[in-house]
Amino acid sequence: MQEFDKKEFIKNVEEYIGVFFRRPIEDATKQQVYQGVAYTVKNMIIDDWLETHKAYEEQDLKTVYYLSMEFLVGRALGNMITNLKADSSIREVLEELGYDLENIEDEEPDAALGNGGLGRLAACFLDSLSTLGYPAYGCGIRYKYGMFEQRIENGYQVEVPDNWLKNGNPFEIKRSEYATTIKFGGYVRMIRDEFGNDRFIQEDYQSVRAIPYDMPILGYGNHVVNTLRIWDAEAIDTFNLDSFDKGEYQKAVEQQNLARTICEVLYPNDNHIAGKELRLKQQYFFVSASIQRAVAKYMEAHEDIHKLYEKVVFQLNDTHPTVTVPELMRILLDDYYLGWEEAWEITSKTCAYTNHTIMSEALEKWPIDLFKKLLPRIYQIVEEINRRFIMQILSEYPSEAKKIEKMAILYDGQVRMANLAIVGSFSVNGVAKLHTEILMKQELKDFYEMFPWKFNNKTNGITQRRFLLHGNPLLASWITGKIGDGWITDLSQMEKLLPYIEDEQSRKEFMEIKYKNKVRLAAYIKEKNGIIVNPDSIFDVQVKRLHEYKRQLLNILHVMYLYNQLKSNPEMEFYPRTFIFGAKASAGYERAKAIIKLINSVAEVVNNDETIQDKIKIIFIENYRVSNAEIIFAAADVSEQISTASKEASGTGNMKFMLNGALTLGTLDGANVEIVEEAGAENVFLFGLHSDEVIEYEQHGGYSPRELYNSDKDMKRVVDQLVDGTYSTDKSLFATLYDSLLAGRGGEPADRYFILKDFKSYLEAQKEVEKAYLKKESWARAAMRNTAKCGKFSSDRTIEEYVRDIWHLNKVHL
Ligand SMILES: *Cc1c(COP(=O)(O)O)cnc(C)c1O
Repeated sequence: MQEFDKKEFIKNVEEYIGVFFRRPIEDATKQQVYQGVAYTVKNMIIDDWLETHKAYEEQDLKTVYYLSMEFLVGRALGNMITNLKADSSIREVLEELGYDLENIEDEEPDAALGNGGLGRLAACFLDSLSTLGYPAYGCGIRYKYGMFEQRIENGYQVEVPDNWLKNGNPFEIKRSEYATTIKFGGYVRMIRDEFGNDRFIQEDYQSVRAIPYDMPILGYGNHVVNTLRIWDAEAIDTFNLDSFDKGEYQKAVEQQNLARTICEVLYPNDNHIAGKELRLKQQYFFVSASIQRAVAKYMEAHEDIHKLYEKVVFQLNDTHPTVTVPELMRILLDDYYLGWEEAWEITSKTCAYTNHTIMSEALEKWPIDLFKKLLPRIYQIVEEINRRFIMQILSEYPSEAKKIEKMAILYDGQVRMANLAIVGSFSVNGVAKLHTEILMKQELKDFYEMFPWKFNNKTNGITQRRFLLHGNPLLASWITGKIGDGWITDLSQMEKLLPYIEDEQSRKEFMEIKYKNKVRLAAYIKEKNGIIVNPDSIFDVQVKRLHEYKRQLLNILHVMYLYNQLKSNPEMEFYPRTFIFGAKASAGYERAKAIIKLINSVAEVVNNDETIQDKIKIIFIENYRVSNAEIIFAAADVSEQISTASKEASGTGNMKFMLNGALTLGTLDGANVEIVEEAGAENVFLFGLHSDEVIEYEQHGGYSPRELYNSDKDMKRVVDQLVDGTYSTDKSLFATLYDSLLAGRGGEPADRYFILKDFKSYLEAQKEVEKAYLKKESWARAAMRNTAKCGKFSSDRTIEEYVRDIWHLNKVHL
């Protein structure tokens, strides 16, 4: 990375536009200018990318491979410019050319290769790894269609394919030289080789070629560039006469189709497993490609495969990449001819597993038949891992038959991926204190008793470079003006803001910035929704995936309640409120989609009721994603983190809000618990059941919402309004939600997520929010304290803990 040279930059942009589009820059479209700028910026870091990897090799550094089905990286250009520290120079140049940097950034589609929190975590981790100077690869899939684009039509979610690559991707480089072959299906033949060893040969399989595309991940101001390597599939052979001759026409077509479908689309389920065969193919495809390449790379520079774990660690982001364990075993057994014990020792010292949920519908299980048919050799290995593990259980717990039922990897016709991941890893971590405690005491108790040393907590984090420095430039530069720019790479320095809380002028400035960010969001809403919102109102925000456990339904029921109050008592004291929602629902998740429709139906009625004088506005932001998230967090007053206690493993949205000076309204769930510890309980609005209470109820089959409903007039009224035509002429439209609260279905308890149980407590907490907002001075103090005390929630801190406790990496010297 040379010193920024304005003339050179312009020359490069013009050259690209000339070569690619045969146009002078004056005639180029905005998209073409974006492409020119993007290629130029990529060029600025190419040398650093090469240098970084040369340094890794020379210093023979251990590397973490972060294996993840999802990387929700969002847009790259703005982030790269930020991390190059070239923001003001490039902004200036573009202004001279008559463009505004934000407008050019808006030309880039989000790389939405993820659903929500899990995928965004992977993206934040990559940013931190580079910024901290640790050698790392992100390994994933180059989905042709990422997370669908959400449109709201007539209040309903409509899914539109996200063809994010249609204009190409300026930041990727195809690395055909690292292509590898991945085999599916067929059968395994055992032969005895000339030394008398058993060899396993997969035959009559279908195969695809895995081709990596590399994207640079630039550290902040340090010239370190790591790689996000995402794999695409290509057919091995195009039709050749040979195949026709041998009558293998059918097989050739099948291989073509396999290659075409495997990387086609990201499954849009968040915290829910659909169990589709193609999904298992995707998992094995990217895992096998990544592991083969990692082992080959290690062997290019080292002699002894037995010491693989000294230089390589595989971190499994949830159970999705768990086939890493048997795949590494396969390579060691079948390609390196190791014995089982030595292969197992290497494997179980190289793999580490992160658990992201305790919700049963998210626990991955594959039918044995399907698994065996698709991955015959891998299945054999899993069988042997299972056989040996059961022997171990029997010897440690000879009189406890139940242990096998609970802990076996193969059970009841299924392959249980979490069990395989735990047995095959040296580390098992949860993602927030509370979550890890629940894992150890409840969900994974038996495993914890057997392998206590494996278990550890790594509370999630977020990168302040994207969610403050890039997303909230006004606040970022104000903070830098007060305390210097050390916070950009050391978020604990935000505590230096604490003294300014006592300074009236500083409080005023802080809240003025919040106001300006609310004006910016209001403009976005005006443009996208055609609705005018009042920036003086409280911006009360819930943005995250739509899921019953996240309880957007509780939020909108409260809005319905407030509306009832205002209607029956127009003169009541009421501070204006703007309720902002953003959420995608998985395409097949009926109740989630009904909740989106409900929010929009309530919005339609309330927003257009002149009698309430704009005291309540309800906004549903279409197509919530990383790029608009940045604008939303900056503008929030209230952060809704209202999941049923015990269900949200960590949450990371909660941290992004806190960073931007919003006050949390939440349950004691996930990382909210730690936010309370940091910010102080007096600066957070807490309500609802605690996790142990929820778990207690669940162990007794739930509770009886009917009694609550019958005894609380206000609650009964809003629940009845779901089916009495208040918000829809079709009274059956929301019946599924009404039933979920009062009736349950198919063995599922009524109000499984304790919405009515927590309703009253939530109303009271919301009342407190309003009272607190009226006291402008103390609200400003609390908002500033949240920002000042968010240091713990940087993904830099999280990564340092992974490095210290799990990965044991060293920093590169450049
Ligand atoms: C942070 C983030 C999430 C995760 O939000 P939670 O509130 O933790 O569920 C999801 N989607 C996007 C776009 C995000 O930036």
